[in-house]
Amino acid sequence: MFPAVTRAFLLSSMTPVCRSGVTVRRYCMKNPTKLRVSEAFLDAQVGEKVRIQGWVRSFRPQKQNLFLHVNDGSSLKSLQVIAPAAMNDPLLGFGCAVEVRGILKKSPHSKQPVELEAEQIWVIGECNPDFPFKIKERHSLEYIRQFLHLRCRTNAFSSLLRIRSEATAAVHSYFKNNGFLLVHTPTITSNDCEGAGELFQVEPPGTTFANEGSFFSVPVYLTVSGQLHLEVMSGAFPRVYTFGPTFRAENSQSRRHLAEFFMVEAEISFTESIEDLTKVWKSAFTAKIVINCYPKSYIFLSPLHLKDTLDDMLRKSFPVITYTEAIDILKRSSETFTFPTDWGCDLMTEHEKFLVKHCGNIPVFVTDYPHDLKPFYARDNQDHPKHTAAAVDLLVPGVGELSGGSLREERLDLLRSRLGECGLEDTYSWYLDLRRFGSVPHGGFGLGFERYLQCILGVDNIKDVIPFPRFSHSCLL
Ligand code: ATP
Ligand code: MN
Repeated sequence: MFPAVTRAFLLSSMTPVCRSGVTVRRYCMKNPTKLRVSEAFLDAQVGEKVRIQGWVRSFRPQKQNLFLHVNDGSSLKSLQVIAPAAMNDPLLGFGCAVEVRGILKKSPHSKQPVELEAEQIWVIGECNPDFPFKIKERHSLEYIRQFLHLRCRTNAFSSLLRIRSEATAAVHSYFKNNGFLLVHTPTITSNDCEGAGELFQVEPPGTTFANEGSFFSVPVYLTVSGQLHLEVMSGAFPRVYTFGPTFRAENSQSRRHLAEFFMVEAEISFTESIEDLTKVWKSAFTAKIVINCYPKSYIFLSPLHLKDTLDDMLRKSFPVITYTEAIDILKRSSETFTFPTDWGCDLMTEHEKFLVKHCGNIPVFVTDYPHDLKPFYARDNQDHPKHTAAAVDLLVPGVGELSGGSLREERLDLLRSRLGECGLEDTYSWYLDLRRFGSVPHGGFGLGFERYLQCILGVDNIKDVIPFPRFSHSCLL
């Protein structure tokens, strides 16, 4: 049952078994019910013989008894195991992997509902003493980040991973419950203009295809957004979404940028106004708040009182201001900004954070950005003298821009002339086709999943909310 390379030892006060006999014995014995630690806490098996498998998170040998806490990732809380001192063994200690069999009992202590009275303990994998995490120490997120391959063994990062997994499931269930079709948009794409300057080009190494020019015969890139592919699908399905890895060659060490991140993108047909869009957007954002699933993990990971702030924030409606109003607010403020705040300039993080504070530290939609700042697909508002497009960003506390979207230009003539101005009419002839064959008003948004986690968890650095962060000059593992 255990891999041959691991050494399995049976530590038992009652039935010492020779080491070579361990495996044989395990097969002929009637195995007690295997429980996950979170299941043991449910109390249902109290009084029964059970077995659990996990890693030792604390270890206290005392004169009469050994006390260990065993964690298997199913909850922040570990299961307390009590064993007679005679079961001690040099291999047993902080960080090692064990299987414990014994009787699950109600605990006399208020700290835990149940505890496991061990009859047998196997050390499945011992832990070398140079394990970088120390018993009882609470290591900082920066410290554990140095050990990407080991940090899931800490309480902090395992809490994050539980919540991230739950949030992923919540994204899918929100969209499923609201009539959206999931589309697997491609990772490799030949769309080359949207993320100009932030693209990773894809080509096999060496000269294998040199004679044929290149593998795909055209330059191809890792996707910076699935939007255009979603727009294709929105020609037959009024509600579509995608949720997958997205790539940007950002030469940035910022706390909110990664080279590979996950994006939730939705596209909605028959959308006539920005309000139609922000309604879905807000409800998607709110529905995805899943911290109630693992309240202890959440409280462990996040700053005190964030949950109250968050609950409060979600009950309120999110203010909507125009870009022009935002610029007025910034210009009128007494704050000194590093970057200019004139009409026509893009909003920088410092501006976004200021606007969020100004609006009462709740999420804010900023609409109608200067037409010239937005890509060809953003719908032209045809206003003057300040020419704007129907693009919207959602700014949130602690992070700034969480999400960006727009109404898309559905009018063939306007789109054609815009593409023409950019010299892209031929490249995007297929996109023009979407407007030629049953075009409808539509719009959508893209929401950075890691920034969303940063916002709800109050985690300062984006590298601490993704299992394996990739950023410039770093691609470990
Ligand atoms: P920013 O101005 O913050 O770089 P952006 O304008 O490039 O963002 P969009 O192209 O609108 O962002 O992408 C949609 C969403 O994807 C953003 O709102 C953000 O949440 C997320 N996002 C964009 N770039 C990154 C990145 N490098 N790392 C993590 N998330 C990102
Ligand atoms: Mn960017």
